[in-house]
Amino acid sequence: MNAEILCIGSELLHGDIVNTNARYISKKLAEIAIDVHYQTVVGDNPQRIKKALDIGFSRADIIICTGGLGPTQDDITKEALAEYFGVDMVFDQESFEHVKKIYMRFRRDLPQNNMRQAYFPKGSIILDNPNGTANGCIYKGEDNKGNLKIGILLPGPPKEMEPMMDTKVIPYLKQFSDWVVYGEKLVVTNIGESAAEEMVLDIIKEQTNPTLATFASAGKVIFRITAKAENKEKCIELITPVREELIRRFGKENAYLVDSGNVEDKVAQLLLEKKLTISVAESLTGGLVSSKLISYPGISGSYLEGFVTYSNESKIKTLGVKKETLDKYGAVSEETAKEMAYGAALVSGSDLGVSTTGIAGPDGGSKEKPVGLVYVCVYYKGKYEVKKINSSGSREIIRERAAVTALDLVRTCIERYEDTLSS
Ligand code: ATP
Ligand code: MG
Repeated sequence: MNAEILCIGSELLHGDIVNTNARYISKKLAEIAIDVHYQTVVGDNPQRIKKALDIGFSRADIIICTGGLGPTQDDITKEALAEYFGVDMVFDQESFEHVKKIYMRFRRDLPQNNMRQAYFPKGSIILDNPNGTANGCIYKGEDNKGNLKIGILLPGPPKEMEPMMDTKVIPYLKQFSDWVVYGEKLVVTNIGESAAEEMVLDIIKEQTNPTLATFASAGKVIFRITAKAENKEKCIELITPVREELIRRFGKENAYLVDSGNVEDKVAQLLLEKKLTISVAESLTGGLVSSKLISYPGISGSYLEGFVTYSNESKIKTLGVKKETLDKYGAVSEETAKEMAYGAALVSGSDLGVSTTGIAGPDGGSKEKPVGLVYVCVYYKGKYEVKKINSSGSREIIRERAAVTALDLVRTCIERYEDTLSS
């Protein structure tokens, strides 16, 4: 079975809102191995909605629609579906009670228009909406050639649509798919995207199940390994040898598995697991490193303090960086990065201090110190680990890459220290 997603709403066509519904539904269908071949957007126009259903059902077995279930006259998705299957609209008492109850809660009279929300194509399975007035529905019918066709109508607001998708639609559609799709994300750092891809090109070319896909983001490359099988356990069985081979080729220090694909999640997990505390001193990243760490729930057990020390004076006053160091080597230097990391750890009394300093551009570069030159440093157990980066790209890319590299360096330092303990 394959599906088409049909999102209804003129505001989508005008670019006023982003079509997050299509993305959400596509991801969910991928997990149960139902292929999506088309995503369509159509405005609130009866003729065009009907046409979109005709075209959609001519090329897909399932159409999932969002939007246009509301009470207003332009909300006509249900009527269009009923017309496609040639069935009447019938009144559903429970849906009516539901709409009435919500209106009573606000002590408002039920407008006549809202009666429309209690009508559905005859023979539909009705999907309750605990988060809004408009119930959804599933209609299973046939096209004029007798092929099985399923129309699923969901409300437009994501906070109503998403729970309905998770708790009603996916369990329903599972009966039409014998497969599950499961994926793992491997983060690779210190190796550029094309170099990384070349190192595993033979695997990428040979693999059909699991498949390997790469995407690059500032400071890291992510490999997504995706398998299709009867259940999750079988998927993991298929993925494991491929994952292990990738880690062997890239090296354990450069490649690691992360649920989210975010380096900060791995770092946060490590800090918490090892019961280590950390403080952050940032210049060009302006709080990005701190913000990424703090996005991890529970990080309060490790994260003590963050300093955005943008000016030289602030580096001296807040972190105790020496004026001589700044005069002799400049703010963007290995020496300053070290004193910043040490200063953060000392001032906060944390186990680790991590720092970033660099030239984010677009101005401020020189021949010796071009835009994109960044130093990140980690101070841990009396030792310094410094990394110099030469980035290209926009200010945002340079700052993002600096933040990711700094966090990755924290990971390397902790793992390396643990290795020396165990060897
Ligand atoms: P309502 O009862 O609120 O009218 P509805 O089912 O008729 O619900 P729409 O009127 O089409 O849905 O959309 C309501 C709101 O839901 C939109 O203003 C928008 O904020 C959000 N929305 C609709 N479609 C999408 C979409 N595809 N992606 C993200 N948000 C959406
Ligand atoms: Mg509406």
